[in-house]
Amino acid sequence: MKYEAVIGLEIHVQLRTKSKMFCSCDNTGEDQAPNTTICPICTGQPGTLPVINQQAVDWAILIGLALNGEIAKFSKFDRKNYFYPDLPKGYQISQYDLPFVNGGYLEVGDRKVKLTRIHLEEDAAKLIHKDGATLVDFNRGGTPLLEIVTEPDIKNPQEAKNFLQELKLIMRYQGVSSADMEKGHLRCDANISLRPEGEKTFYPKIEIKNLNSFKSVEKALEYEIKRQTKLWEDGKSPKKQETRGWDEVKEMTVEQRGKEEASDYRYFPEPDLPPLKIDEKRIQKAKGNLRELPQQKRKRFINEYGFSLEEAKILTDDRDLSYYAEQVISELGAWLSTLGLEGTKEEIWEKNKKKLNKLVANWIINRLLKLVSENNIEISKIKINPENFAEFIVLVYQNKISSKSAQQVLEKMLIKGGAPSHIIKEEGLEQVSNEGELTDIVEKTIKNNPQVVEDYKKGKSNALQFLIGKIMKETKGKANPQAIAKLLKEKI
Ligand code: ADP
Ligand code: ZN
Ligand code: MG
Repeated sequence: MKYEAVIGLEIHVQLRTKSKMFCSCDNTGEDQAPNTTICPICTGQPGTLPVINQQAVDWAILIGLALNGEIAKFSKFDRKNYFYPDLPKGYQISQYDLPFVNGGYLEVGDRKVKLTRIHLEEDAAKLIHKDGATLVDFNRGGTPLLEIVTEPDIKNPQEAKNFLQELKLIMRYQGVSSADMEKGHLRCDANISLRPEGEKTFYPKIEIKNLNSFKSVEKALEYEIKRQTKLWEDGKSPKKQETRGWDEVKEMTVEQRGKEEASDYRYFPEPDLPPLKIDEKRIQKAKGNLRELPQQKRKRFINEYGFSLEEAKILTDDRDLSYYAEQVISELGAWLSTLGLEGTKEEIWEKNKKKLNKLVANWIINRLLKLVSENNIEISKIKINPENFAEFIVLVYQNKISSKSAQQVLEKMLIKGGAPSHIIKEEGLEQVSNEGELTDIVEKTIKNNPQVVEDYKKGKSNALQFLIGKIMKETKGKANPQAIAKLLKEKI
């Protein structure tokens, strides 16, 4: 018997609004001293009243649209009651039966993973377990959270990981959250059950908590598939829901407790907040603010610029990087038109764009990104501005510098900034492809290596490579290898 996995995710994303969800406290509490960004409202003092953060609402609409959901014209907040030290009020303001967004989906690879709902709520305080004691930091209490729940529609651990990574990118592209899992800005519980392949029934699920990275989500699900497969094979498949925790060190899930039911929380409508009414105008306004999604950008990078899927993936994996690449490309046209090529600006661009764009992708992916990470700088802060990078690409395109010198030029640009043409002059790195200059060196090399020349004449093609190498060395890498090869063949 073969079994298939049924996976659903529950995700919490912290919104980086200026103030908290229901009070005006600074929402950057995690960078502040413990218990300093708090007030009577977010610590649940009697007699205080919450007020809805409108920025959080607008961002929830934005994400609802980005995830193709239906924004509810009418929704409300509810109290979710439970007793725990991270919750000073004794309840969390959340949404129960009328969530802010219904349905939706997220494209992962070539599948659309269906969403159940998205709702708004407030974060709880942070508990710090230390030296046998537990400390409470209320700074995080009241931070706006978006809870996103998927349908049990995910097929395997890798798809779950891909889903989360794409979700993170969407949050970042829309600028609503850093969605950094390691920092807890994006948190995820993963639900999984197995069923005999082809069956449509759902079986009791296991909820996995304590997942702190994309990798651990994937690993924990893989572990559960193995564990549950064994249970099925032994005729002991899970008969009731259960919550298990992922042990990062032992790489296994461990039993935590039976799963709580909705009724345990005694949900009831929040009497201190009005219902949320969203009109069409507000939704339309959010549509106008919706930035291009990573998925759309990837497709556009492929269709418009001729990038491969792999290149498009890398270049869109960071919003700033994708901006940078596009700015470089838009500057290329300007540089091209300074070269005195024949035709109108458009004709010149059409003729050369494919190769130029390819060079941009290559140099960014294979060189610039390495330099940036080696020097530990952010792409948005580098000294090489897009205009200079575009000039650099055009110089490489025209063979003004050898690829070896080009690497040196790029490094210099990263350190000092400035135009590559200046750096090339300053460092004397112009490529020697001028025949007059090269002829002397080529003739000398032929004279000094008679044996190699004989070998070449006998048909040993790597003999030519040997001679090219000698000349490259002599010119300190500045000669154009194609020009040398041509001259060598002529002279020999
Ligand atoms: P609960 O009442 O335990 O909160 P929900 O129906 O709200 O359960 O679902 C919570 C999450 O668990 C959702 O992401 C959903 O897709 C997923 N889920 C529900 N049933 C199953 C199942 N049988 N197997 C795997 N995941 C499931
Ligand atoms: Zn407060
Ligand atoms: Mg639920």
